[in-house]
Amino acid sequence: MSCDCCTGEKPGAGSYSCCNCGQRVDIGKNDKMPPCPRCNNTTFKKA
Ligand SMILES: [Zn+2]
Repeated sequence: MSCDCCTGEKPGAGSYSCCNCGQRVDIGKNDKMPPCPRCNNTTFKKA
């Protein structure tokens, strides 16, 4: 499965899950994707 966005991008408001550990991250419309709070991974897919 491929990943949709990376840390530092602004993929839009929504829920994303870490491609490494599955940690869910919710961000707002103008928020930059942070690194994963659990494992520091930088790739995410839409949840
Ligand atoms: Zn993670």
